[in-house]
Amino acid sequence: MKNIGIVGATGSIGVQATEIIHKYPDAFNVKFLSCHNNINELLSQISILKPEYAVVTGEKSIPKGLTDTKILYGMDALKTLISEMSGELDLVLSAAVGFAGILPTYTALNNGVNVALANKESIVAAGKAMMQTAEKSNAAIIPVDSEHSAIYQCLKGHGNNFIDKVILTASGGPFRYRPSDSMDYVNIGETLKHPNWNMGNKITVDSATMMNKGLELIEAHYLFDIVPDKLDVFIHPQSIFHSIVSFIDGSSLAQMGLPDMKTPISYALGFPERLNWGAEPLSPQLLNGLTFFRPDKKKYPCFAVALKVLEEGKNSLMIVMNAANEVAVDAFLSGLIKFTDIHRVIGDTLELFEPRDISNIDEIILLDNVVREKAMKISKDIGR
Ligand code: NDP
Ligand code: MG
Repeated sequence: MKNIGIVGATGSIGVQATEIIHKYPDAFNVKFLSCHNNINELLSQISILKPEYAVVTGEKSIPKGLTDTKILYGMDALKTLISEMSGELDLVLSAAVGFAGILPTYTALNNGVNVALANKESIVAAGKAMMQTAEKSNAAIIPVDSEHSAIYQCLKGHGNNFIDKVILTASGGPFRYRPSDSMDYVNIGETLKHPNWNMGNKITVDSATMMNKGLELIEAHYLFDIVPDKLDVFIHPQSIFHSIVSFIDGSSLAQMGLPDMKTPISYALGFPERLNWGAEPLSPQLLNGLTFFRPDKKKYPCFAVALKVLEEGKNSLMIVMNAANEVAVDAFLSGLIKFTDIHRVIGDTLELFEPRDISNIDEIILLDNVVREKAMKISKDIGR
């Protein structure tokens, strides 16, 4: 029986995780669930999974007397709960969206609790601090992101020193076949229609700009300690190969599966066992005609910026890029700026900050706050 807590239980990853957990009442005991503002979804999960605690980090509240589960409010309460409960927790699923996931993720790792990591933004902003903290406290990070789950599985039993290349695949998002000179005219509706995956809004926009793949390269760099030169990306529109690891002896291993996040989620929840959650098997016939091509950096300038930031290797720039991207994506989704302004906001914000190394979490949070203010102003100026 695994004692588990879920941060961001009401999101796309969180809901799929709770569906898997519900199928295995003898394997999981839910200690806590957290949501930001989706109280209805939280209440329905509480009635099914009966956690000891539920935490609401947003503005909303739950009327008294509706449930026996103890309800707490605020990010500080979530942090305290994770740290006080750490002795009883076997796993925390970190599935909040954006930089907001940094404190619960860090708190779990710092207290020696294993983390199933969906929240890539916390590793992008604080990769070194997270990895060092996990190592010190002996906590494992099991990736949920499909590409990183694939790499994790391919690397089992192989040392990093035998790696020649790690190839992350990308779907290319909704605009993969769209001519690059027509990108100025894309609207919110078409951006949110991902061809292969059904995900939260922020990551769906990140997939359309391919910033998602940039964030994922940085995530892979830290999670697996791989130098940027050994990381590569191919667009693979069918999303069957989730990543490929090539070794120095000419062997390549890939992890495949139909594009369904329940596969990597169940892997991270069940590790080291595998859960039979009802996946549709992959027929080899589906491998006929698979395609792979290189991303066009002119069409995906956000991806190009992320590559530069990764190569520069200074994490202040990763924090800036990540925060500016979150602000720009919000500004796009609220209609303030155009799709093609997203990379302008990120580029203009990056110009304002010096490259340096920051490993202290409080300093990272401070810088993130400052960047947000600057990026907001830049978004407003561009959107005017
Ligand atoms: P969603 O937008 O669907 O869900 C986000 C979750 O985070 C919700 O539970 C939401 O609460 C909560 N949340 C929102 N804002 C805050 C905040 N300020 N503080 C704390 N919690 C907050 O996101 P996804 O599930 O799509 O993505 C979650 C993470 O997983 C992201 O980092 C994403 O990049 C990563 N990921 C997602 C994939 C997917 O298929 N969706 C695939 C690979 C990685 P509420 O809804 O209650 O307001
Ligand atoms: Mg991914």
